[in-house]
Amino acid sequence: MKRTQAKEDLAAENARLRRWVADLMSGMYVNCVYCGHRYGPNKSTPVTMADVLKKHIEKCPQHPLSKLKAENKRLRRRLAELKEKGASDEQD
Ligand SMILES: [Zn+2]
Repeated sequence: MKRTQAKEDLAAENARLRRWVADLMSGMYVNCVYCGHRYGPNKSTPVTMADVLKKHIEKCPQHPLSKLKAENKRLRRRLAELKEKGASDEQD
């Protein structure tokens, strides 16, 4: 078996297993481990539970990502202030 064929077979198997996991999770509740927010089961939802959880993580107030986003925002604001200050210092 050629190496590329083996790679394609593994990718197909991976896709099949991901669909299986999505099917298994569709009948379950999924909780955010950081804030406990609960989703599902909802068979009418067009996205998988994993996708629902990914969307929640982006806005979960207790997920470490939220802390990093806030820090990023603060640092960007500070950087803009320093750039402004630097520009005005050059003019003096
Ligand atoms: Zn959460």
